[in-house]
Amino acid sequence: MLCDRRIDGARERWIAEHIRALELGGADTLENMGPAHEACAMVKTQDDHRRAAKAKRQKIQDIGAYGSKRPLPSGKRSPWKRTLSGRIVRR
Ligand SMILES: [Zn+2]
Repeated sequence: MLCDRRIDGARERWIAEHIRALELGGADTLENMGPAHEACAMVKTQDDHRRAAKAKRQKIQDIGAYGSKRPLPSGKRSPWKRTLSGRIVRR
């Protein structure tokens, strides 16, 4: 359960949701499923998405694949520039 309120299965909308989100490594098994108010589950899913996206960003940074943020080898912010003849020289 995601909140302290009891779920009235007859009168409230509820779903079986993944206690640990699949995208955060949770298992797709009954043991990892629990009842939750539909509204609560939606909030949690959004939070899980944020956390998964953040973890993904950190992983990308760790392996140094943040290419778009790096200045081009011969770009304006690089200490090198390419001459008209194609040679790379220091500025
Ligand atoms: Zn709830």
